[in-house]
Amino acid sequence: MIQLKQITKSFGSHRILKGIDLQVEDGQTLAIIGPSGSGKSTLLRCLNLLEKPDGGIVQIGAHRYDSSHITKEEMLEFRRATAMVFQGFNLFANQSVINNIILPLRVRKKCDKEKGREIALRLLKQVGLADKADAYPSQLSGGQQQRVAIARALALQPEVILFDEPTSALDPELVNGVLDVIRSIRSETMIKIIVTHEMSFARDAADAVIFLEDGQIIEQGSAHEVFDHPKQERTKKFLQNFQ
Ligand code: ATP
Ligand code: MG
Repeated sequence: MIQLKQITKSFGSHRILKGIDLQVEDGQTLAIIGPSGSGKSTLLRCLNLLEKPDGGIVQIGAHRYDSSHITKEEMLEFRRATAMVFQGFNLFANQSVINNIILPLRVRKKCDKEKGREIALRLLKQVGLADKADAYPSQLSGGQQQRVAIARALALQPEVILFDEPTSALDPELVNGVLDVIRSIRSETMIKIIVTHEMSFARDAADAVIFLEDGQIIEQGSAHEVFDHPKQERTKKFLQNFQ
């Protein structure tokens, strides 16, 4: 389970997150929607401590971050509970597809080469790219690269997988292939948190949705509640942009 209590974050004098309270149950998929600049990426980055919240508590399973104190080791443990899939794929350009998955496994999980290879091949198969194991990222389409990035994140078996607009850098015809892969992991036990502008995807793939605006959760509920019966005017207005 993830629990956030009163998370705040400023950059200089600019308050970006203004007290976020949130709970996500094991196995759930949470979609985060909201306008540009509302703090969605900052919130995700506070979840894996790429940004340290200024105040509040982040709890992921047994790992707890309390802004007042954390040792380097606890921080590393915390990071290892999560994996992130970025908008821009962030693959190692000078490594083959399979090595992109094996290398983090060796570093994070201390996997030997054989075991790493076995896991990587299984996941490449799962995302439909078994035949690309020895290709280099530059030889793949953006959609294929993103599927490798997802396989790499899954290989680490994190407690939480974070997606920051995983399809927004893709040509439209490549978007669905990536969304299908994300849909296909819905039943896996890890928590999935996805920042997305793909509203129809969020509606059918997420268990819970939050609408973030100006660093605050304006509305939250099931996908059905938020998309079909939004309570707040601001949510209604935002959703109208996608009709
Ligand atoms: P988008 O939909 O455009 O990705 P977002 O909701 O993800 O937007 P964030 O990236 O979280 O928004 O940014 C929220 C605000 O924080 C913006 O005003 C941004 O300029 C500011 N911000 C984000 N990161 C930093 C940083 N490292 N230093 C200073 N300001 C930052
Ligand atoms: Mg963002």
